[in-house]
Amino acid sequence: MINNQTIAARGLQTVWHPCTQMKDHEDLPLVPIRRGKGVWLEDFDGNRYIDAISSWWVNLFGHSNPHINAALKTQTEELEHVILAGCTHEPVVRLSEQLAQITPGNLQRCFYAENGSAAIEIALKMSFQYWKNCGQSNKTEFINLENSYHGETIGALSVGDVSIFKDTYQPLLLRPHTVPSPDCYQRETGESWKERSLQRVADLEDALQKHGENTCAVIVEPLVQCAGGMRMYHPVYLRELRRLCDAYHVHFIADECAVGFGRTGTMFACEQAGVTPDFMCLAKGLTGGYLPLSAVVTSDEIYQAFYDDYESLRGFLHSHSYTGNPLCCAVALATLELFEQNNTIEQNKLLIDVLAKSTERFNEHPHVGEVRQTGMITAVEMAQDKETKTPYPWQQRRGLTVYRHALENEALLRPLGNVVYFMPPYVITPEEIEHLCNVAWDGICKATT
Ligand SMILES: *Cc1c(COP(=O)(O)O)cnc(C)c1O
Repeated sequence: MINNQTIAARGLQTVWHPCTQMKDHEDLPLVPIRRGKGVWLEDFDGNRYIDAISSWWVNLFGHSNPHINAALKTQTEELEHVILAGCTHEPVVRLSEQLAQITPGNLQRCFYAENGSAAIEIALKMSFQYWKNCGQSNKTEFINLENSYHGETIGALSVGDVSIFKDTYQPLLLRPHTVPSPDCYQRETGESWKERSLQRVADLEDALQKHGENTCAVIVEPLVQCAGGMRMYHPVYLRELRRLCDAYHVHFIADECAVGFGRTGTMFACEQAGVTPDFMCLAKGLTGGYLPLSAVVTSDEIYQAFYDDYESLRGFLHSHSYTGNPLCCAVALATLELFEQNNTIEQNKLLIDVLAKSTERFNEHPHVGEVRQTGMITAVEMAQDKETKTPYPWQQRRGLTVYRHALENEALLRPLGNVVYFMPPYVITPEEIEHLCNVAWDGICKATT
C-alpha cells in the first residue's frame, strides 16, 4: 500500500533532495505528491495544497493543464527527440520564431539548453567569445550585483552572490566585480524606489570605469532578485545599466529565468525599462512548468561575430545532449498559445490587484519589515525590529515555522529565510489568494512570537 508515510520513507532511502540538509527530514516529513490539478497539489493521503510558489516558480497555467497536455501527447506521437546539430524540426523552428517576435528589440537568435544555469553559462561564454572574435581578448571579466542569483553550476554560481549557496565553493569560482544592489528594502524613510535605485548607478559606473576595458558583460536579474529574497528595484536602474553598457562597450545580460513570462506584470521585466539586453536568458516558465528547457536569445549583430569559415574556429562549439528537445519546444509553444488565448498579461492585472489588496494588512503586523510587490510576485519580509528592519538571525529558521503551518492548512509556501512570498500560477482565483494570505498571516504570527 502506498501512502504518505510509506513513499516518504522509501524516498529517504535513495533520493538526495535538492537544496536540502537531508538531516532535516528526520523530523520534517517530506510531502509526497500524487497528482496536481490547476493550483492544487494532492498527496497520497488525500490532503490538498495550493501551490503558492508555482513549484519553484516554473508553473504558469496550473498543473495538468489540458491544453499543454494535449500538445505534449500530440508531439510524443510525432517525434520525441532528435539531435539538433545537423538536424532541425518544426517545434524548434516555430518556438524560435515566436521568441524572436515576443522578446524586446532586435533579439532574434535563439540558443537552447535544458535549464537556467546552463543558459547563464552559455551567455557568459558567448559574451566572452564575441569579444575574443572581435579581437578583444583582454575582456575576460564580469560585473554582477550584490545578492544576485544565477544558478548553481560553477560559472553561474560565480556570477551569483547569495553566500549560503556560494561560499563553500569559493576556491573553484570565477571572481566577478560585485557592485551594490539597487534593491530598495533598506531605503530611507520617504525615499522612493526610483531614488534608491538611481543612487546605486554611481557604483556601477565606478566599476565600469575601473574594469570596463576588461569586462565582457554585466549580468543582472531584471527588477526582482528572486532567490536573494524577492528583493525588488525600480526599472530606472535597467535604463541606466543599458546606457552605461553602451558607453563602456560591455554586454548587458538579462537573466529573466525567473522573472520572464509575465511574472513582473509584463511579458519580460526588461520591457518596463524599455531596454533590450544583449543576451536574454529564459528558463523556468518557458515550458509552463512542464519540462526542462532554457533559451539564450541574442541579436544578429552578436551572431554574426561567430559566423565564418569553419577553420577560423570562431563558431560557438557548445552543446547539450537534449538541446532544443521537440517535446520541450512543443510544450513551450502550447504555453505561448495560452498567453494569447487567455490574454494573460491583461487578465493578470486583476490578480495583481487582488494580491496587492489582500497583502496590505501585513503592513500592520508588528514583525513585518516590508510588504513589496512587482506584478505577480508579492513578498512579506519578517523582521525582528519593524522600524530598523533588523532581520531575525537566519539560524532561527523562522520561515520554516511558516512552511509547516502552511502545510497543515492546505498551502505550499516555501519562505526564503525571513521572506514569505507568493508567486502563484496564473490560474489562481481571488478566493485562493485570500486563503493563502490568511494562512501566511497566521503562520507569520506563529513564527514571530
Ligand atoms: C532558477 C534561476 C536560475 C537557474 O535556473 P535552473 O533551471 O534552476 O538551473 C538562474 N537564474 C535565475 C534568476 C533563477 O531564478
